Amino acid sequence: MIGIVGGGLAGLAAAYRLQQHGYDAHIFEAADELGGLAATYETNGDPIEKYYHHLSKTERTIVELAEELGVADQLEWRIGENAYYVDGVVHPLDKPWEIAAYPHLSLYDKFRLGMLTLDVDVRGGIPKFDTYENLEEFEDVPIKEFVVEHTSRGVYENFFRPLLEAKFGSRKEDVSAAWLLGRVKFRGERDLLKGEYLGYFRGSFDTFVDPLVEAVGREHVTTGARVTEVGVEDGAVESLTVETADGETTHDAEAVVVAAMPNVLESLTGYPCDIDFQGSVCAVVGMEEPLTDTYWLNIADEAPFGALIEHTNFVPPERYGDEHLLYVASYIQDPSEDLWQMSDEAVEETWLAGVEEMFPQFDRDSVTWFEVARNPRTAPVYERGYLDMVVPYDLADEVADGVYYAGMASRAQYPERSLNGAIEAGYECANGVARKSNQ
Ligand SMILES: Cc1cc2nc3c(=O)[nH]c(=O)nc-3n(C[C@H](O)[C@H](O)[C@H](O)COP(=O)(O)OP(=O)(O)OC[C@H]3O[C@@H](n4cnc5c(N)ncnc54)[C@H](O)[C@@H]3O)c2cc1C
Repeated sequence: MIGIVGGGLAGLAAAYRLQQHGYDAHIFEAADELGGLAATYETNGDPIEKYYHHLSKTERTIVELAEELGVADQLEWRIGENAYYVDGVVHPLDKPWEIAAYPHLSLYDKFRLGMLTLDVDVRGGIPKFDTYENLEEFEDVPIKEFVVEHTSRGVYENFFRPLLEAKFGSRKEDVSAAWLLGRVKFRGERDLLKGEYLGYFRGSFDTFVDPLVEAVGREHVTTGARVTEVGVEDGAVESLTVETADGETTHDAEAVVVAAMPNVLESLTGYPCDIDFQGSVCAVVGMEEPLTDTYWLNIADEAPFGALIEHTNFVPPERYGDEHLLYVASYIQDPSEDLWQMSDEAVEETWLAGVEEMFPQFDRDSVTWFEVARNPRTAPVYERGYLDMVVPYDLADEVADGVYYAGMASRAQYPERSLNGAIEAGYECANGVARKSNQ
């Protein structure tokens, strides 16, 4: 048996591909449900992810898997509109005339920002088209230094700095220019007159995860089962120990794929990973009325959260029994932060007060439900030198023969962690197992 630690997308994809290679793969998932960070809540209509999710047109592996599972026709591509909240005003920022009208960047700043997003280096007045080809050259370049040199100080201060603050908080100056360039390239197809197309499954990501679980086979999954030990004998994996409500059991295993955060890998195998992770606190707010008319609202002003993502301006409210659904979200750098320490009730009070302050017309009585999800490790800090810290898929040399890693600290989850990256990491490990036994 090949044991898989974790039943998120990476673990499910690893199991699926291992089975295709003819292996007996079994997933052990500590939680009571599968899907990991892509798990959902029930609503009055379709389920909704606990943490906001969408796909970019650049992501192909998940679409190919959806095709194999027969659910590609349920994948819808919709425009996800963006706006920036600055000095109490919502500025839409998708269409050329909206960008032209945006008052917080000069015409020169907009030109320099536009060129960077088109991958064109205009420093020195002669356009160069290959400067940003090799991301690794920018791994050690501090993001602020890069943006100021390659665009302008105005672009950094009035555009990127507030976004970086929301995404990386106190760690924003540690992030590498390679990450930013990777994000620019990661952006998918845009309709010049409307904005970027984002993917979402009709009926939530459950529409994709459920058939994947069925394809793996419920009999090959145990939930409520935390892997506590990987047994190694003569430099090779030989067993897994699993803790369930009924006690501890040890299973023979010829290999193990750890498809969880690197702290889990370290506790099971001793392999240390130096990547720092941020946590998330993310609420879904059910409302009788819409709050804004944009999907993704970045916030430059002081606010007790990082972003407001109004899901029902992306997927229509009719799918949710006519309720409007808003994500209120914030990253945390350290569990000592006030937000992490707050009870769910205190988060609700603080965040709804923050929404009221930004939108005086917001009526708290229109809130029908408020659910908070939190997780201490949800995104890597893509700091300088990140690629040197990435965990290899095959840890035979570092730990023992038969130890594989498909979690968020793997290469496929760079420059942004995603469901697509999780699937690719799972596949890489499964293919690695198969390659080795064919040698
Ligand atoms: C706020 C937020 C927004 C996001 N937005 C997007 C988006 O728009 N688009 C996108 O593509 N991606 C997005 N992502 C990222 C995406 O959710 C992740 O990249 C992906 O779900 C990671 O999958 P995984 O299987 O690697 O990890 P996880 O989903 O974390 O799964 C790991 C699993 O391992 C289990 N586990 C841990 N320890 C053990 C143990 N000892 N034994 C057994 N099981 C264990 C956990 O319970 C968990 O279920 C977002 C994530 C967050 C938090």
